[in-house]
Amino acid sequence: MSNNHVTRKRFGQHFLNDEGVIHNIVNAISPQKNQTLVEIGPGRGALTLPLLEYGIPMRLIEIDRDLVAWWNDQKQQGVNVDVYDCDVLRFDFNELGSVQEPIKLIGNLPYNISTPLFFHLINFHSIIADMCFMVQKEVALRLAAQPGEKAYNQLSVWLQLHYSVERLFDVPPDAFDPPPKVNSSIIRLQPHATPPVLIQNKIGFHKFIKACFAQKRKTLRNNLKKILSAEKILAVGIDPTRRAETLTIKEFAALYLQLSDG
Ligand code: SAM
Repeated sequence: MSNNHVTRKRFGQHFLNDEGVIHNIVNAISPQKNQTLVEIGPGRGALTLPLLEYGIPMRLIEIDRDLVAWWNDQKQQGVNVDVYDCDVLRFDFNELGSVQEPIKLIGNLPYNISTPLFFHLINFHSIIADMCFMVQKEVALRLAAQPGEKAYNQLSVWLQLHYSVERLFDVPPDAFDPPPKVNSSIIRLQPHATPPVLIQNKIGFHKFIKACFAQKRKTLRNNLKKILSAEKILAVGIDPTRRAETLTIKEFAALYLQLSDG
């Protein structure tokens, strides 16, 4: 990579520079020849270049124009990449995959967009085969959190409705240049072969989960008082004095079905 690229803080740029860590991440990604491999934020190629050695073409989504120009230059020189110059939060992944040919998504994600990105990606879950990402450790704990754990929140429930989430290993700040202030983790997300619950109205269910978590310290009875009576909560065998953070996805679904639009 050209040495004159200016690091841009606003794009969450922390570039991996530890060969051992890069090797472990590439192993965790374990690229397959017949899959379309899509990287979010290739940056200066810390992951892209070793992945290209597997002989698999890569699709790159990058917001930094200088980096896009550099990758386009690489393409001109025969490097097997296609570069999409855009904000991944606006990217339509249907351009790259389909239900018949689902994509594999990877990336060392910019910290400032990871949560909105997961909500965006859920829209494409039927065309994503699997994902392997680096995120802030705190976010990884949330995504993988189980009922009763402190980190369990509406994002954990919503994501786990679609994917199984595995936290693989942690990465310390000194593996990056410049080093971030926090620890990071590598996570793997795989779509469920059979979803844990069948929900017709997903938008409605999402709103309902948000309502359950509206005030974390409050009971279900309190958070849901405008939409579901304590009797209706009890009718599915759930104590209305419990908090949302203790409910399994199946319990959220049972409660939701008590609503008229559920
Ligand atoms: N993959 C490289 C590495 O591991 O060294 C770079 C990782 S760096 C943490 C995040 C990358 O995502 C940067 O290249 C940054 O420019 C890019 N990026 C930030 N926000 C983005 C967005 N909204 N859409 C696409 N790319 C973005």
